[in-house]
Amino acid sequence: MFDRSRRRLAVWFTLSMGGILILFAFTVYQRQITEQKREFDESIYARAKKIVDRTEYKQKPNWQLDTEKTFPTQALITAESNITCTRWYDAQKRLVKSFGQCSQFSFSTRQWRTIKHHEDQAHMAKLRTLTLPLTKGKFLVGYLEVTASMTDIYNSQKRSRLFLAFGIPITLGITGIVGWLLAGFAMRPVKRSYEQLQRFTADASHELRAPVAAILSNAQVGLLAPTGDQAQPRQRLENIVTQSKYMSDLITNLLFLARHQGQLNPQDVNKTNIVELLNSLGERYQTLAKEKGLEFELDISVTSKEIIGDYDLLQQAIGNLIDNATKYTPSGGIVALKLEIKPRRILITVQDTGIGIPQADLAHVFDRFYRVDKTRTRQTGGFGLGLAIAQQIIQAHNGKITVESEVDKGTTFQICLPVNSKIR
Ligand code: ADP
Repeated sequence: MFDRSRRRLAVWFTLSMGGILILFAFTVYQRQITEQKREFDESIYARAKKIVDRTEYKQKPNWQLDTEKTFPTQALITAESNITCTRWYDAQKRLVKSFGQCSQFSFSTRQWRTIKHHEDQAHMAKLRTLTLPLTKGKFLVGYLEVTASMTDIYNSQKRSRLFLAFGIPITLGITGIVGWLLAGFAMRPVKRSYEQLQRFTADASHELRAPVAAILSNAQVGLLAPTGDQAQPRQRLENIVTQSKYMSDLITNLLFLARHQGQLNPQDVNKTNIVELLNSLGERYQTLAKEKGLEFELDISVTSKEIIGDYDLLQQAIGNLIDNATKYTPSGGIVALKLEIKPRRILITVQDTGIGIPQADLAHVFDRFYRVDKTRTRQTGGFGLGLAIAQQIIQAHNGKITVESEVDKGTTFQICLPVNSKIR
């Protein structure tokens, strides 16, 4: 599925980018041709004007070309330009004199002409002619026809066409490769989220299957029990209640993760007194820690500090961390909750002296359904969602949650929250 989408993206990219590039190349090519022709015509015109200026006339009795005086000066002009032939005609359009390598074609008074001329059977030359009237005062003496070879200009255009013929397929090839790589980059996050979603669905189904199976078997066995036996169905019903509670908790957590996906309801975001929140959590967990034989330390040096956030969500995130600390710390250990106030942010630290988390697992503890030790957590009843929920809440508050841990020494979770943040 992803390969097909990647291929499609690459093809579309190549077609659109390639199309734009080819269009651009042809526009440049066309402009170059037009510009070359214009410059070519301008140079012929300038030369022809010079020839006109140096053309000599004599009056006998009407004005005529003085062919004898005119020739020597023309030799210079013709030799250093593209001009291959210069012809003088009289007012009756009869050829008077010609100079250079002149091809045979009919005379015309049209100013500009492009003439295809077959030099021999195999070669065809393109010639450009410019015809200018020669006047003496108001009197038309004759015409000057200048012919230039367009070979150089056509050779240059041929080279440009050859460059395009090779350049376009190469450019399309490179665009295709770039498109394929870019499509790969673009598909990466989509692929990752798809895989995450698939894993999440598989994990959630797996987690729900066990309690459903337990409920079913309890109900089925209960139905099979003899009608007079009161104790059996009660035990089964209690099992069903336990499993249903487990499922209900799991579904609540899953719904929570789905609902609060990176967004907070702006109406729930208020000024929250974080000191009050931590003190209330401290009170709750102090009793719990005592029951487990743990020491609970509360380190808050201020009496009040307000931040922008959702009280209930923050309570749940920090509560999950303290809950874990008490769950994964054997009796006799210490669980500490600390608040530090920085100029624009606050730091909340939950530290324990518990079993710790191996380095290899640290990168994954915030993943949904991730448990370091499945057997141990089954006993303590965790789903592997507590840290994922905590991280989602903190990120929705534009905060950051980090973890440091050493096996058998303890774990430290730290939450960094901006005091004033625009909630996502
Ligand atoms: P759970 O509901 O299983 O506790 P969490 O998402 O809260 O799920 O935690 C994920 C895993 O990270 C836990 O299963 C546990 O292995 C590990 N963990 C979390 N907090 C601690 C801690 N304070 N000490 C040791 N291990 C921890």
